[in-house]
This record gives sequence, structure tokens and C-alpha cells, in this order.
Amino acid sequence: MTVALQEELNVYESAEARFEIAAEKLGLEQGLYRYMKYPEREITVYIPVSLDSGQIAVFTGYRVLHSSVRGPGKGGIRFAPDVTLDEVRALAAWMTWKCAVVNIPFGGAKGGVICNPAKLSKSELERVTRRYTAALSDWFGPERDIPAPDIGTNEQIMAWVMDTYSMHVRQATTAVVTGKPLDLGGSQGRKEATGRGLMICCDKAIAKLGMKREGCRVIIQGFGNVGSEASRLLHEAGYKIIGAADVHGGLNNEKGIDVPKLYDWVNTQRKPLPEFPGGEKIAAQEILFRPCDILVPAATENQITSQNAHRVDCRILCEGANGPTTSYADPIIEKKGIFIIPDILGNAGGVTVSYFEWVQDRQGFFWREREVNERLQDVMEQSFDQVVRYAEVHSVNNRIAAYLVAIDRVARALKLRGFYA
Ligand code: NAD
Repeated sequence: MTVALQEELNVYESAEARFEIAAEKLGLEQGLYRYMKYPEREITVYIPVSLDSGQIAVFTGYRVLHSSVRGPGKGGIRFAPDVTLDEVRALAAWMTWKCAVVNIPFGGAKGGVICNPAKLSKSELERVTRRYTAALSDWFGPERDIPAPDIGTNEQIMAWVMDTYSMHVRQATTAVVTGKPLDLGGSQGRKEATGRGLMICCDKAIAKLGMKREGCRVIIQGFGNVGSEASRLLHEAGYKIIGAADVHGGLNNEKGIDVPKLYDWVNTQRKPLPEFPGGEKIAAQEILFRPCDILVPAATENQITSQNAHRVDCRILCEGANGPTTSYADPIIEKKGIFIIPDILGNAGGVTVSYFEWVQDRQGFFWREREVNERLQDVMEQSFDQVVRYAEVHSVNNRIAAYLVAIDRVARALKLRGFYA
């Protein structure tokens, strides 16, 4: 890999580049700029875990608190073999901006453990989670830093986080983590929330562009929590899903994929997505370049780069993953006139319902699914409108507009709080 490409694929640099452009546009004071640019704190933990074989392995874990200016840190925990501190830093900063875009009272944080969850047994996974949580029990807390699931982590892992933290503080503390099972203080609608938020953004974007749901051709890369729920909801709403992909490969069907059957195939029968008998097999990344109306990258970072952005052929790019488009690809996408729904807006439905979960846990009073979905709809619609308005007023694309909204909000809070000592 060339140095230039390495630099392009560094997600921290990607996050920084957008922040720099927006900060300059806003004319952010130097002091505020410096304060917001760097994380408040970051920690590396080495986690000794006894494996089922009896051997001791030591895993490396991270937690970065980017900002607590607008409230406690909020952000997922990622379990993956390629987790790096730079990636966790970028994801933590994105959480600050995302929470500010949707105007919920959280700062930004993120965590990760370098491990391959597919290769760990359930009990090994539990020990990794518990030891990681124990090492961070002074950092976490409903008023300090609240984790959630991300790639490689799920409801069960969140339940172990909640239990371990509760054992340490000697009281049941459901609000320390979100994305929990319903039986343990989880929220109705959380599982679908990120996909639902994406759908609400797609609805707003097509209305703005004078398009219709019926026959609107959608391609979704990634068929995990975000991608499969988004596919299911978009399909139910009348969109036509013509392409889907996961890490094993892609599937293309111009007539429309039978999404409920594919959902069952992948999520219940646990069969490989490209083997689904209802479409033509295609390479996982190639799916991004098929012509469509809406492209939803919902897998992982750095999928659309300066090397391939010229091949993207859609009207709307609605980002489900964090950082699927590199900053070097931004000008190419913009030049093509593609309407962007940037990650910090597009996938913010997840953290919004996480916020609702935290509110419900603290109230000890739980809402019906309809109430959760209505509140989510309000938040997403208002945020979408605000981002588009900023884009028009400041003559920037939607991505930079989302950063402007976010940085503006954090800067205002920072000025009101002032600098202690
Ligand atoms: P997940 O682990 O449930 O699913 C990831 C999916 O992407 C899987 O289907 C996997 O097979 C697929 N994938 C991985 N690499 C791929 C590749 N190279 N090509 C094609 N497919 C590939 O994770 P998730 O929770 O759905 O998260 C997906 C993305 O969305 C991540 O960037 C995450 O940070 C972001 N996100 C998730 C949430 C949430 O609520 N889960 C909220 C906001 C953002």
C-alpha cells in the first residue's frame, strides 16, 4: 500500500479532515478548535483472560473519551481483530459530532478490544468482556461514559457489561450501558433503530428530490444489525432492494430481492448471504458500483475511496456505517452531484434510541414501541432538516453541514461552561 493510500485509509485523518474544513468555515476560535480537536482522555488496557484450553491470553483494549462537554461520553465497544487506537479515536470523535447533530445530551466516546469474536467461545467472550469492563469500571457510569454495541458485540455482551459494572458499584445499574436485552432494561425499538433512522433519512431525501418510494432502487452493503434491519424496513416501506452484500459476498437482483426470505436465510438459518437462491452472485465490494437510486454502505469503514469513488452510480448516498467514505473520496462524490446523507446523521438513529433507553432506565418507566418510534422520527426529521438548511445557507455539502451543526452546538456549550482553572 502506498503511503498516500495508507494516509487516506487512516480513519482518524478522515475524521480530522472534515472537522478542519467545518471549523474553518465556522471561523472557530483557535482555543476552541484545539480543545475540540483532541480527545479528553484515552486509555489502553491489557486484559488477561484464561482461555478454554487453560492457557492465558492477553488482549489489548482501548477506551477513548473524546468529549464530555455536552454530557457523559457515549459510544460503542467494538470487538474485531483490526481495532486500532486511531480507529477508536476517530469513532469517539464521530460520536461527539453525531450526538450533537441529533441534539441529545451526550458527548462522544468509543472502545474496542483487539480480538476475533468468531474464534472465541461464548465463555471466553464473557471473560474478555467482564475483564475489560472491570478494568474500566472507574471510567464507565451512567453520568460518565455509557457504552453500547458496535461491530462484533451484541445484547448479551451489553448484559455482561451491565452485570460486571453493577457488581463493582454494588448496585444494579442498568443505565451504564445501552443496547441491552429487553428483559434487562433495554428499549423497545433499539434493535431496529439505526435501520429505522436510515429509512427516515431516505424518506426525507427522496421527498426533497421529488422521488417516490415505489420502485426506488436500493443497494445495501453489510447485512448485520444495521444493514439487515434497514433492508427489512425499506422493503416493507415499498423501496426495491436490488443488491445486498456481507463479508462473504454480494447478491444482485434487478427485479428486487425477497428481503424477508433473505433476512431469514442470513439471520435465522445462518447461511451465507451470496448463496441465497434469489439473485446473481457478485463480489462484496462490486455491489457498491451497480447503478441504483440509493446506495447504503452499512458494513465498515473505507469502502468508497479516491480509487473507486468515480464508479459509484447512485442519486443518494446514505451512510449506515461509520466512515464508509474517505475524505479523499468526498470531492469526487460531490462533483457527481450525489446527495449525501453523512454517517453522523444517517446512522444516528441508533444512538438516539440508546439515549431513550438511558432515559427510560433512569426513570424506571418504559415506553411503548410506538412512542419510541415516534420520538425517533421527530429527532431524525428535525436533524435532517437542520443539516440540509445549514448546507443551503453555508453553500456546503451535507457532510460538512452536519459537522457545522455539530461543532456549533459543542462550541456553544463549551463557551457557556467556560474553562475550569
Ligand atoms: P455487524 O457486525 O452487525 O454487521 C456488519 C456487517 O457488515 C456484516 O453483515 C458483515 O458481514 C458485513 N461486512 C463486513 N465487512 C464487509 C465487507 N468488506 N464487505 C461487505 N460486507 C462486510 O455491525 P453493525 O452493528 O451492523 O455495524 C455496521 C456499521 O454501522 C459499523 O460501521 C458500525 O460502526 C456502524 N453503526 C452501527 C450502529 C448500530 O446500532 N449497530 C449504529 C451506528 C453505526
